[in-house]
Amino acid sequence: MLTVNAYAATAPTEPLTPTRIARRDLGPHDVLIEVKYCGICHTDIHWVRGDWGAKDYPVVPGHEMTGIVTEAGGEVTRHLVGDRVGVGCLANSCRTCANCRKGYEQYCLEGNVLTYGSVDRDGTLTQGGYSTHIVVTEDFVLKIPDGLALDVAAPLLCAGATTFSPLERWGAGPGKKVAVIGVGGLGHVAVKIAHAMGAEVTALSRGMGKKDDALRLGADHYHATADPDTFARLAGEFDLILNTVSAPLDVDAFLSTLAIDGTLAVVGATPEYSLHRANLVRNQRALSGSLIAGLPGTQRMLDFCAAHGVGAEIETIDAEQINEAYDRVLASDVRYRFVLDNATLV
Ligand code: NAP
Ligand code: ZN
Ligand code: ZN
Repeated sequence: MLTVNAYAATAPTEPLTPTRIARRDLGPHDVLIEVKYCGICHTDIHWVRGDWGAKDYPVVPGHEMTGIVTEAGGEVTRHLVGDRVGVGCLANSCRTCANCRKGYEQYCLEGNVLTYGSVDRDGTLTQGGYSTHIVVTEDFVLKIPDGLALDVAAPLLCAGATTFSPLERWGAGPGKKVAVIGVGGLGHVAVKIAHAMGAEVTALSRGMGKKDDALRLGADHYHATADPDTFARLAGEFDLILNTVSAPLDVDAFLSTLAIDGTLAVVGATPEYSLHRANLVRNQRALSGSLIAGLPGTQRMLDFCAAHGVGAEIETIDAEQINEAYDRVLASDVRYRFVLDNATLV
């Protein structure tokens, strides 16, 4: 058993504090990873602050990890000591059910094991990436391709996978008009990926403050959704809209901007939707959603991002800045992902 430095939340209303946690002894198929960087996802904040109901505490959040393999179990075949690797939102699943076999481990019929706050298949509670080391079974460890730096790659493990998945599924590419709602951690990566896929990309943000950044990241167009004229101007415009917003949203207004056969794909944890039937049946629109991505999809995303030079725009922080970073994410004051330098977990 290895005892390592970490940052944990002990209650929804308490700041995260330094702690020490145990990592299990390596099983034959486990790898030990020295975590170099971990992105701070808005999901960490929803989880820690109790937005999604009662959770087990203390919890070490973090599911956007990159690092180096420092030890491998005796039967590990996929990774070598010294490999550059990543761990995303999933730490385990049954691997044999129909959904796992299709590469949708997030929808495992026996229940997925999330990287933190989940009961693992051995009965222990998983603890995430705000820690110096993690032990993960080899099948749930991704390869970080050469050319992707570990710091800008870290947010791809959730933000990249979560947005690549619906963009790929709904065919974002040349000739397709794709809008991204919310230019935050997920949204800014979505803009980059959709642009790299060859789509015509529109960034939809509340105000005009992120316009220059969005255009620099690859958006062809930018509109402020706080401007009431925006929705009239964009009526029937898009083939695909990706909602990355973490707050209540007027979904009907966005549906009205879909062209014939258009799809509104939800990934943001918008807590509630008002939905008027007329906005769906008109233009035979579809409303869809997805949860993170499975292992094959996540690796495809990493390979795609490496091939197209896509990394996250990051602000690197020390461990003692985690609580401040949470407040800044909640205030949408992040350009565009905080990434923890795990060497500062002392
Ligand atoms: P984030 O960095 O905070 O970005 C969210 C963006 O939403 C903000 O930058 C802001 O964009 C917009 N926004 C915030 N408050 C808003 C409000 N009151 N009204 C309208 N727009 C608002 O968060 P994130 O890390 O990208 O995560 C986004 C959401 O996705 C979270 O709810 C997270 O839990 C969820 N998520 C889901 C999955 C999944 O598998 N489905 C995976 C990861 C994350 P503008 O300033 O541009 O308006
Ligand atoms: Zn996440
Ligand atoms: Zn399964």
